[in-house]
Amino acid sequence: MADLNALAADLASGAVEVIDLTSPLESSTPILELPPEFGQTWHFELEEISKYDDRGPAWYWNNIRTGEHTGTHFDAPVHWITGRDLDDVSRVPVRNLIGPAMVIDKTAEADKNPDYLLDVEDILQWERENGALQDGGWLVYRTGWSSRGDDPVAFANADESGPHTPGLTPAAARYLAESTNILGLGVETVGTDAGAAFGLEPPFPCHTMVLGANKYGLTQLRNVDRLPRTGALLIAAPLPIVNGSGSPCRVLALVAR
Ligand code: MN
Repeated sequence: MADLNALAADLASGAVEVIDLTSPLESSTPILELPPEFGQTWHFELEEISKYDDRGPAWYWNNIRTGEHTGTHFDAPVHWITGRDLDDVSRVPVRNLIGPAMVIDKTAEADKNPDYLLDVEDILQWERENGALQDGGWLVYRTGWSSRGDDPVAFANADESGPHTPGLTPAAARYLAESTNILGLGVETVGTDAGAAFGLEPPFPCHTMVLGANKYGLTQLRNVDRLPRTGALLIAAPLPIVNGSGSPCRVLALVAR
C-alpha cells in the first residue's frame, strides 16, 4: 500500500518542495490577442461586491470576469476542432491532472531567436540523454519566456508581421501526438503554439495535433527553471467548467530536495 504519510512528512520537513508554476491572475496578466476579425478572449477582472462596508459589513468578496484561456490555463481537447468530440475541461479524468514533469530547456535558443521552433531532433536528443518521454507525463518546454510575463508588450513580442514567440515544428507536434503517451505539453508562452504558427502547415500544429490526440496544453507557466529535467511531479488543477474548452489553472510541482 502506498504511504502518503511519508509524502506528508516530506512536505512538512521540506524534503519535498512545492513550487508554484502559475502566473498571478490580475487585470494586467497578458492574454492572447487574435487578428481583429476574430472573437477575443477577456482580460481577467475583479469586481468588488463588498469590502466590510454597507454592502457587506463583515465580509470581502468579488465577482470575477475571465476568459477560459486567460493567464496560466489548461487547454482541453475540445478547444480545437480536431478534438471537438473529445473531452471538455470538466470531463478530463482527474487521474490525468497529475503526472511527472519532463523539462526540455531551449532558453538559449529562444534567446537568440524568438521564433525558435522545437523540432523532433531536439526531443530525440532529450530522450537519448534522459530516457523516453514517460507515459502519463507532462513535457515542459522551457524557453525563459516567463521572464517577460509582467510586460504584456514584451510577452507578445509582436511587430507588423505578428507575434514572435517560440513554439513547435509541425513534425514535433506530430511526434508528441502520435509517438508518445504523454499527458500534454506545458509552455511559458501565451499558447502552446509559436506566435507565428498561423503561417505553419498545418496552422497551429500543436493545437491541431496534440489536442486532436486527446492530449492537453498548459500555458504561461512560471518558475520552470526551478524544476529538475526529470523527477518532479506536476499537478494541474483546472476548474471543472461544464462544456468548457479550458480553464484558468493552478499548476504546482513537487520537487524532491
Ligand atoms: Mn489556450
